[in-house]
Amino acid sequence: MKIFKPSYEFEHFTDVSLQFLKDNNVHAIFSDLDSTLAAHDQLGDDQFTRWHERLEANQIKLIVVSNNSQGRVDRFTKPYNIPGYGRCNKPAPSKIRSIMKEIGVKETDSIFLGDQLFTDVLCGKLLKMKTVLVKPLGIEHEPWTVRWKRGLEASIKKMW
Ligand SMILES: [Mg+2]
Repeated sequence: MKIFKPSYEFEHFTDVSLQFLKDNNVHAIFSDLDSTLAAHDQLGDDQFTRWHERLEANQIKLIVVSNNSQGRVDRFTKPYNIPGYGRCNKPAPSKIRSIMKEIGVKETDSIFLGDQLFTDVLCGKLLKMKTVLVKPLGIEHEPWTVRWKRGLEASIKKMW
């Protein structure tokens, strides 16, 4: 089940540090939203605000790519002026591939950040990016469909 194995596993998005990004020559982060940058339906907190400021100050682009609605994505991204795309249909790579073209970034300069193996990690791999898996935020707020997938993810991880 190596297809689902991320390049890196971290606790939290703030572990994606400037040093890590520099070492990996990353100029763009394609990130999932729900349970990755904020709990379901939540907005960015102080930690997110500070992390985003550091990225901006270092010319690292953050692009939110979610399977949730555009409305949800906009509520999160607009206060920060972050490009955000809803209904990305992850793990299918086609919509994100066209976003990459539009923004003008290459997979070799990018990483994919997310909390789910079947959507985020797989999508990043299909896009030939390095992938970073983080522990889900606010797991108690997740819909049952997501919780069900967590069980499957745990079985796959046992096979690594
Ligand atoms: Mg998620």
